[in-house]
Amino acid sequence: MTAIREQLNRLLTPGATSLSAPELAALLKAQGKSCDAIYAAAEQVRQHSMGEAVHLRGIIEFSNVCKNNCWYCGIRCGNDHVARYRMTAEEIVDTAKNAKLWGCGTVVLQSGEDPFFTAAILSDIVRRVKGETGLAVTLSVGVRSRDELAQLKEAGCDRYLLRFETTSNALFSALHPDEPFEHRVQCLVDLRALGYQVGSGFMIGLPGTTLEMIANDILFATRLKLDMIGCGPFLSHPDTPLAGKPLLEDRSVYYKTIALLRLLNPTAHIPATTAFDALEPEGRNHVLMRGANVFMPNVTPGKYRRLYQLYPNKPCVDEEGAACALCVRGRLAALGREIGTGPGHSVRQP
Ligand code: SAH
Repeated sequence: MTAIREQLNRLLTPGATSLSAPELAALLKAQGKSCDAIYAAAEQVRQHSMGEAVHLRGIIEFSNVCKNNCWYCGIRCGNDHVARYRMTAEEIVDTAKNAKLWGCGTVVLQSGEDPFFTAAILSDIVRRVKGETGLAVTLSVGVRSRDELAQLKEAGCDRYLLRFETTSNALFSALHPDEPFEHRVQCLVDLRALGYQVGSGFMIGLPGTTLEMIANDILFATRLKLDMIGCGPFLSHPDTPLAGKPLLEDRSVYYKTIALLRLLNPTAHIPATTAFDALEPEGRNHVLMRGANVFMPNVTPGKYRRLYQLYPNKPCVDEEGAACALCVRGRLAALGREIGTGPGHSVRQP
């Protein structure tokens, strides 16, 4: 406990040197009181740097068509069991209007890597959503060229979410065979240069991951100086080559990863990602009490939700309309947290 306390004190001291990967890996192993001390420190930093407000970002899963065949993902192009859909621009704009009614300050437009949605088509959608709702818009549509990203920024897109998935180059190329790791990282560099608020992150516990690798992922996410860091547990999907791969034996590693990200990134927006609710029923609530300050209610029209299952046990797939936005209100009230107002832009110092 003393060693852990000392390391936490270092993390809590402004300007102190960061921890090394082996030191972070040791923290990821912490159990009992030491583990609780990590959660408490993360809460303290979250309260101090981000306050009690939880920003709502409504996620619209607008297409499950994907040209990639990532081993971990349920909507990989090789999965024939998925009925594919694309929402129309009209449907996307109407859904964004609902998200606004339900109290979201941002809409996140997410899809597979779908070539139909060219930069021109997406730009038109972004313009319409911004024009008709005034909400902040985040895109999460995979790797795009710098020219396309520039066009989308010009159209008014505020933010972009692109996870690097893992910093292990070997693991990345094994599980994400259609595109090299370097392209994802280059895309993150381009986004920053173009003035986007940049979100990235990784899956926790991909098969073959060690605690040292998670520590490296935490350090890499920190070095990127992200405006938003989104991470969640890897959950094995039965219709993928990673079917049957187990969860991490020690579930607390998932939560400690988020807590350590908060300690290293006091002013980053950190969502309680949906996959935590697939891990366990109150998963997202736990994350909100261990460093997270953002919640992403699913606002996708009910008829599409079941078709966008990146992983099994995804919550809320049988819900309709305002259900998720209402549910989050109850959750936040029970946790004594407030709903954020306004767009909830980055508060990170450049
Ligand atoms: N096509 C976009 C959006 C991907 S979906 C892109 O490639 O950026 C959003 C995220 O879901 C992915 O980045 C990945 O981190 C996560 N994901 C995919 N399959 C998963 C699984 N089986 N378990 C947990 N998370 C998964």
